[in-house]
Parts: sequence; structure tokens; C-alpha cells
Amino acid sequence: MQKKLMATYILIISLTIIIAVLFSWNKGNQYFRDTVRKDTETKGQLLIDILTNEAENDSLDFQAFADRYSNKSEVRITLIDMEGIVVADSDEDYRIMDNHAFRNEVSRAIKGEIASKIRYSDTLGTYYLYTALPISIKGFQGVLRLSMPLIEIQNIAIDMIKYVVYGILIGAVIAVIIAYIVTKRFMEPLGQLTQAAIKISEGNYNDKIYIRSKDETGKLAEAFNDMSVKLSLNMWKLEKRNREFESVLSSMINGVIAVDEDYKIFLYNSKLNQILNIQEDIVGKSIYEVIRNTTIFNVLEKSIEQNEYIVDETIIKSNKKDKTIRVYANPIFAPKRASIKTMGTLLVIRDITQMKKLETMRSDFVSNVTHELNTPLTSIRGFVDTLKNGAIKDEKVAARFLDIIDIETERLSLLIQDILSLSAIENMEDEKNSSINNIGEIINEVTEILNPKLENKDINVDIRVKKDVTYNCNRNRIKQLIINLMDNAIKYTEKGSVIILCDESEEDVIIEVTDTGIGIEEQHIPRLFERFYRVDKGRSRNMGGTGLGLSIVKHIVGLYKGKIEVESNIGVGTTFTIRLPK
Ligand code: ADP
Repeated sequence: MQKKLMATYILIISLTIIIAVLFSWNKGNQYFRDTVRKDTETKGQLLIDILTNEAENDSLDFQAFADRYSNKSEVRITLIDMEGIVVADSDEDYRIMDNHAFRNEVSRAIKGEIASKIRYSDTLGTYYLYTALPISIKGFQGVLRLSMPLIEIQNIAIDMIKYVVYGILIGAVIAVIIAYIVTKRFMEPLGQLTQAAIKISEGNYNDKIYIRSKDETGKLAEAFNDMSVKLSLNMWKLEKRNREFESVLSSMINGVIAVDEDYKIFLYNSKLNQILNIQEDIVGKSIYEVIRNTTIFNVLEKSIEQNEYIVDETIIKSNKKDKTIRVYANPIFAPKRASIKTMGTLLVIRDITQMKKLETMRSDFVSNVTHELNTPLTSIRGFVDTLKNGAIKDEKVAARFLDIIDIETERLSLLIQDILSLSAIENMEDEKNSSINNIGEIINEVTEILNPKLENKDINVDIRVKKDVTYNCNRNRIKQLIINLMDNAIKYTEKGSVIILCDESEEDVIIEVTDTGIGIEEQHIPRLFERFYRVDKGRSRNMGGTGLGLSIVKHIVGLYKGKIEVESNIGVGTTFTIRLPK
């Protein structure tokens, strides 16, 4: 830039010098020619006067006259008659000279005019001024022509050229100096501005430019500083909005993916990666490349086709676990002022696996509850009918039937109690009626309650309780937990022992119930805590089980944010370990 400016300066200065020199040279040349012409004309007049005198005195000798006055007046003198024949010449032999009638100045002088003409003389290699004056003297009429070499004009021209060259050289030096100073003055702030612009493009808005001058560069610097402040503010706002937008997007529980009109992805969130199990960055890729699910494509295409909101559900198969997803597609409407109507489509993908599972669980629960309630009711009804139909008369049979009805009613009541306590715990977010309870005491109470169940069984109950283990809890809740576990241990053990252990670590209170009963096959263990799940339905019913005991245990443990583990071997026994965080 600086070099260009300097070159321009030098060019301008050189051109100015050349134009000035040419102009003045032209003027000077003109002036010089005019002066020489006038001078020659004056000389001519003077010579004509002399000639007239000499003619009066009859001493006319043209050649002698020409020779004499040529030296004196430093001009070439030629005398030509009216026919153009040269009659005398100071420099040449007039006898061998051409007819001059057609020389411009001569022909015009013959006509009576004083005429001048500048011509280049090949013989002498210089310009000549020819001035012809008509003469009419005694005994002769013709033309007196004076020729004057213009060698000086040529010399002046050479001098001029020299001066031009010197002028240009000096001008160039001055131009370089001026250009250097001036461009430096201009370039310095420009350099600063350029540096600042580079920094801004790198995202650094804090640098200011300090230019004190009040001219345009100063104003530019000021404007630049203002601009960088505004830019920085806008960038900050933009970044803030982006951050907010990204946070909102990544905090969404649903997967989001936006595609443009060419089905190219321009936005998505991390939840989408999680739901669809996508590892790489997918911005800029076609949705067809990234996702392979026809329902998603159908929803997307239908939404584009109908330009409206479409929703559908599908299952995504995966190695780990199949997922049920609900896909919502909605056209992205462009802002009001934009020339286009839509900018693409927004897909919201919701993982509804859990919801579906809960739905299934709920409906399973309803049908299970109905079934569980129905079984004892049908049985009660059957026996009541039989009694009504006459069996009541047979005392023995009636007593047996009434016993059965009693058992079934008891079962019904137990079932309803379990359902109620399960739903109560389920609806609870945290335990309200808590107090410090001694776990050993609760265990002793439970053993007392369950003692009758040990009748007819060869079971040794072993209580291994660490002294003074306390826990902040609802006493009845923990009591129910221990009852359910110990009741199961006794129910599913015919012979051997039931060990109840209570211990504590720094973090947890540990309750463990071990039996030497029938054990549970490994495949059933993950489902044991589901409502109404029984390994052996018949056996459980016979034992008076509702199928809700472990489900209640799981919910109580969940209420205290604890953990539950099961270890079991068929024919060897089962251990339930519960850890309740303190
Ligand atoms: P139930 O009222 O049928 O005992 P639970 O929810 O308490 O219902 O238990 C679910 C199932 O787990 C039982 O039906 C039984 O098959 C199995 N189970 C629970 N505890 C034991 C245990 N200690 N030993 C063997 N099987 C058990």
C-alpha cells in the first residue's frame, strides 16, 4: 500500500514537471521564433534600405552586397528575382542554385507579402528561419531572403530535456521523501486499524485504537472503537443467547433434530444421540445417512407434504434394549419478513419406553388385581352357594366350608391390605412420620408375631443383631419390611434355619434375612419384585401369599433410597440383603 502510494506520488510529480516543462518550452520556443522572425524582418528592411541606396548610386553588386552584409548581420542573404532565379547568395554559388519561385516564403514575397517559414535543412542538419521580403529598387524587382539557423532553439530544446530529466530526478527524490512522510502519516493509523480488524476477526474486541488526529483517520479510529464496542456487546448477547439456547436444547428430555428443505441436519441435541444411539457429529449430514428408521422418514415426509404436525410411534431395535419412541414432526415456519415460508422440519423424538412399560404394568396390575380378588371371591361364592343348596345341613361339611370361606376372606383382606399399603408407599415421595428406632427391637417384635407360623415346621430362627443399631424411620414401615422378608423365609423353608441379621457400616444400616429353603432359580430373580410375580403360583397361594410382599419391600427400600440384593441357590437357600443409607 505504502509503495503504491509512493509510486503514485512520483508519477504525479513527474507528470507535473513534464507538463510544466513542455508547456513553458512550447511558449519559450514560440517567443524565441517570434523574436528571431521580427529581428530578421528588421534586418531585411535595413538591408533593403541599403540596397535602395546603393541602387540610387548605381553601385549595385548583388553578390558583393550579399557577402558583405551576410557576415555583418550573421544571416545568409539570398537575392531572387521575380522569376525565382537566384541572383546572389552569401553562402552558396547562386549560379548552380535551383529556381526558388516555389519556395513558400519566396512565392508569397513575390506576391508582395513579407513571409517567413521555418524549414529543416537537410544539408545543414538544422532548422532554418527563412524570411522573404519583396524588394523593388531601381533596376531590380524581386525578393530579399534572409536565412537564419535556428540551432539555438535546438540547443534550448536539449537543455530543456536535460532540465526535465534533472527536474524529474530531483522531483522523484522529493516525491519519495514527501511520499514517505505523508504515506507514513496515513499508513500508521491504517496499520493500527488493520491490526485491530484482524484482532476483531479473531474474536478479541477489547483492543482500542488511539489516534489523536482530528482528521478522517481520527474519526475512522473513533468509529472503529465504537464499532468494536458494539460488536463486542452484540457478540456477547449472541453468545449468551446461543449458550441459553444450547442449554435449553441439551436439557430437554426429548431428542430434537432439525432438517432443512434438502433433508440436511442443521441442529440436534445430545438427547437425540442418546435415544438413537448416535456417536458422531451429524450436522450437515443427510438425515437418511444418519437414521435408519422408516417411521421417522414417513413422519418427516408426511409433515413436509401436508405442511402440518404429524406424530407416530415406533420401536427402535438395538443390541442392548429395544426402545419405543414417539416421533413428532412439525414444519419450521420462517420468520414473517422472510421470503420463504418454511425453513425445514423439526423432529422431536421422545423415548416412551418407560411410559409404555408403566402403562403395561398398570394394565397388568389392574387385570392382576381383578384376577387376585376374583379367585377368593369365586371360591367364597361357590362355597356359599353349596351351603345354601343344602350343604349347610351337614354340620361337618358346613364347618369345613365355613373354614375355607374364612381362609379366603382372610386372604382377601390380606390382599386388600397389601394393595392399599403398596399404593400408599408408591404415592409417597418421602417418609413423613420418622423417628429414631432400634432395629433389634423391631426384629424381636416381628419374630414374636411370626412365631405361630413356625409351628409344624422344623426351623430354627437365629437372630444376630448388633446392639443398639438405630435408624431414623417409620417404625411400622420397617416392621412391615422385616415381616415380609421373614414371612417369605419361613414360608419357603420346611426345615433348617432362618437367620436374621442386623448390622451397620459407616454409611448404612444392613438387614439380612437368610433361609435354607427351596431357593429361587436365577432367571426369576430380576422379576421377583414385580407386583404379583410368583415363582410358583400354586405354592404361593397355598401358603397364603399375595404376590405383593417383595414389591412392598422394594418400595419401602426405595422410599429410604436404599438397596436390595438377592442371592439364591436352588435347594440351598436364599439371602435378601437390604442396605438403608443413614
Ligand atoms: P408371595 O406373597 O407370593 O410370597 P412375594 O412378593 O413376597 O409374594 O414373593 C414373590 C415370589 O418370590 C414368591 O411367590 C416366591 O416364589 C418367591 N420368594 C420370595 N421369597 C422367597 C424365599 N425366601 N425363598 C424362595 N422363594 C421366595
